[in-house]
Amino acid sequence: MKKYQFWFCTGSQDLYGDECLKKVAAHSQKMVEELNKTGKFPFELVWKPTLLSQEHIRRTLNEANMDENCAGVITWMHTFSPAKMWILGLKEFRKPLCHLHTQFNEELPYDTIDMDFMNENQSAHGDREYGHIVSRMGIERKIIVGHWSNERVQDQLASWMRTAIGVIESSHIRVCRFGDNMNNVAVTEGDKVEAQMKFGWEIDHYCVNDLVEYVDAVPKGEVDALVEEYYSKYDVIDEGRDLEEFKRHVTVQAQQEIGIEKFLKERNYHAIVTHFGMLGGLKQLPGLSIQRLMEKGYGFGAEGDWKVAAMVRLMKLMTADIPNAKGSSMLEDYTYNLVPGKEAILQAHMLEVCPSIADGKIGMKVCPLSMGSREDPARLVFTAKEGPGVATSLVDLGDRFRLLINAVDCKKVEKPMPKLPVGTAYWTPQPNLEIGATAWILAGGAHHTAFSYDLSVEQMVDWADAMGIESVVIDRNTTVKDFKNELRWNSMYYKFK
Ligand code: MN
Repeated sequence: MKKYQFWFCTGSQDLYGDECLKKVAAHSQKMVEELNKTGKFPFELVWKPTLLSQEHIRRTLNEANMDENCAGVITWMHTFSPAKMWILGLKEFRKPLCHLHTQFNEELPYDTIDMDFMNENQSAHGDREYGHIVSRMGIERKIIVGHWSNERVQDQLASWMRTAIGVIESSHIRVCRFGDNMNNVAVTEGDKVEAQMKFGWEIDHYCVNDLVEYVDAVPKGEVDALVEEYYSKYDVIDEGRDLEEFKRHVTVQAQQEIGIEKFLKERNYHAIVTHFGMLGGLKQLPGLSIQRLMEKGYGFGAEGDWKVAAMVRLMKLMTADIPNAKGSSMLEDYTYNLVPGKEAILQAHMLEVCPSIADGKIGMKVCPLSMGSREDPARLVFTAKEGPGVATSLVDLGDRFRLLINAVDCKKVEKPMPKLPVGTAYWTPQPNLEIGATAWILAGGAHHTAFSYDLSVEQMVDWADAMGIESVVIDRNTTVKDFKNELRWNSMYYKFK
């Protein structure tokens, strides 16, 4: 990840005279300084001189476009900044935009307030003038309202920064596919040209045997060292298997992990798609190897699902370096618990669940795969953490992409499942399984999801808005009646957009 920065641009005009403008500059400088000091922000705020004219605004916003480290611009109108001055700059601006609607002082200075103070501190109306033109121009932006020292405001700004990283980094995501979408499966399909136009994703294809060459060429010493790491990190659950044979199966995955990563690094890919039916010369379906690569930050999609692979990668980028992150993974709605009052969905996949979501100990198992024709693959097994998360599904509706965003509550299953040889998560979708699943199905959501504990519904909605695609949210407030209407109205909106 680059050392991204966010520019803090304050708007005003030269009508106010030097003395007032000096204070404007001092105020915004102080704010940026103090905000940076909080340690709350994943990226640095950079103060820019007060914007006073059309020419200056246009030049600054174009400099932001050109600056590789600038991931977005935060705007604030300290005083009144006639918004026609902003038109050309905003028209040419291409990066994430945030409108921080704040003011320097928190409280009315009751004893001293006079008209000079009023004229100097008028973001309440300056920001409305600016907001008008951004809305009239139809530009997507995040609006955050409140005093800049307020913790809620700072948290919102910090989480918007991560959304902005998702927007900026999206156009650098490159997905490497080994095998096409699984035959006859509809929801994992999609328009790759449109995806590149909308999200900037490059989605390429290789023959799986190109990868096999890399895997076969990994030196034995490197493989042995990695196997040793596996054995030191994970609990061996041999279930009576011959221990030497067990180790041979694990070794295959270690060799895959090194070979696949080398392939991806050399060609600059950040996400990978496999297909259990197209394994060429691979001895096992990549399981443990893919789990470890996901944990390192690579995106992954199974059965040719490049949309999920790119979304998982996106989530890994948006959540990079979060202290005490709880994890992100590809998951699949597998099977239900439908006992009244305990309704939930068991989430898993054939093998490929990211260990970043694991709670506690991780075990290593070798078991047969009920599909395909290869030898028994090694995999990591665990259960996932408790707490809120967000499950997303990006679907191609033919005329547009839709991002489904479901707030889910992760929990523990009631009893251990000793015979289940995969990593699992377990959640109840909000508002409950009945309405959550109804809405998900109505919206055409997939069985595969990109899931994270560390992102919010708000961040994913803001990301979809910035990418110019539809998003629908299923959360505590969802009712089937309103949700159905939203889908109907959206379909009309996007027909004429
Ligand atoms: Mn699947």
